[in-house]
Amino acid sequence: MRHVLMELPYAQNALEPYISAETISFHYGKHHATYVNKLNGLIEGTEFEEKSLEHIVRFAEGPLFNNAAQIFNHDFYWRGLTGRPSSASAQLSDMIDRDFGSLEALKEVFFGMATALFGSGWVWLVVTDENKLVIESTSNADTPLRHGRTALLTCDVWEHAYYVDYRNARPEYLKSWWRVIDWRSVSENLADYLNDDTV
Ligand code: MN
Repeated sequence: MRHVLMELPYAQNALEPYISAETISFHYGKHHATYVNKLNGLIEGTEFEEKSLEHIVRFAEGPLFNNAAQIFNHDFYWRGLTGRPSSASAQLSDMIDRDFGSLEALKEVFFGMATALFGSGWVWLVVTDENKLVIESTSNADTPLRHGRTALLTCDVWEHAYYVDYRNARPEYLKSWWRVIDWRSVSENLADYLNDDTV
């Protein structure tokens, strides 16, 4: 089974001025695309050749895991962004207020973890088995899916996500990323999880 680079749900200039078309041309068109090409080469002749991306993320090791998880993480990252105004559902807003106090407080925790993350990785808004919202970071390609956890939102803090627009200034990138979060997508991820959870 060949894995394919996802279609972006918007034009490459849709997130400007916060994330430039040039950044997306490198980040999506080069980095993300390379993970897909590498994975397709790596799965040949292995037990993962006909497996889904999620299966590879859950069970593979080494380069197979790294490339598959990076594809999964980037697909999720792009789907969590929009150039259009968006707002959180009442359900998501209520849970944010309950677990963080306010959206502003959530942002502070998120940015603190993203700034403190040493090296390359990802920061996530996750919903736990107890239906509590928490913020977590993972190193390199690691991802909540690997640990059976459900992510609602992620920020890519690999330097390749921001060097074109912000050089090495991760905090500047974070502020811009915050402006293009698709809160409707985050809300839908939460609703999907809570609906599944009632089974
Ligand atoms: Mn990336």
